[in-house]
Amino acid sequence: MSATILIVEDEHAVARGIQYALQQEGYTVALAKSGEEGLEAAVGQAPDLVVLDVRLPGIDGFEMLRRLRAAGSKAPVLMLTARDDEVDKVIGLELGADDYMTKPFGLRELLSRVKALLRRAYGDLADAQGGRVIRHRDLVIDLERRRVQRGAKRIGLTPTEFEILRHLASRPGRVYTRGELLELLRDYEALDQDEKTINVHVSHLRDKIEDDPARPVFVQTIRGVGYAFAER
Ligand code: CA
Repeated sequence: MSATILIVEDEHAVARGIQYALQQEGYTVALAKSGEEGLEAAVGQAPDLVVLDVRLPGIDGFEMLRRLRAAGSKAPVLMLTARDDEVDKVIGLELGADDYMTKPFGLRELLSRVKALLRRAYGDLADAQGGRVIRHRDLVIDLERRRVQRGAKRIGLTPTEFEILRHLASRPGRVYTRGELLELLRDYEALDQDEKTINVHVSHLRDKIEDDPARPVFVQTIRGVGYAFAER
């Protein structure tokens, strides 16, 4: 999994140092210089992990974290502070930070914390390489191993459900009609050639991957047309 990591830090030298170290390890990195900017990037781009400094101009790291969790993000957050302050640490963990580092810290230590957090959050898919893994929020689809996870939790899909998800998620935002999906699945499994069959499979798929199948976040109904996977 080539994870995307958002760094929220106003100190240019510190941010650059972390960015460089993470990029050397093959991670994709986004930078934000304030809490507001960070929140927008964290909600809009759904990074796999956030490195968040407590001391920021405007809303601080605590407030950003509080708003991030309130917006439903479960991305692991590694908080940074300039002071070895137990109070900061407690507040951060209570607000939903997953780990905490005190400045100054070594980049090697930061890398090992990041790796541990990714593994904890995404399980063994954190080690999968390359672009054969599709991620959206905490949904992880490993195309080669035909495995699906929400966070670290494995989800068992039928071959038909997996194929539907694979097609939709491979092109987020692309609308597939029920007829198109039937056509794509034709070679794969002898399906009843009634388009309503697709609705049934999508319904079962949603029961397994969505928090609230009535208000799906991943597989969306495009009324009167078909289905599309959510764009990031
Ligand atoms: Ca700072």
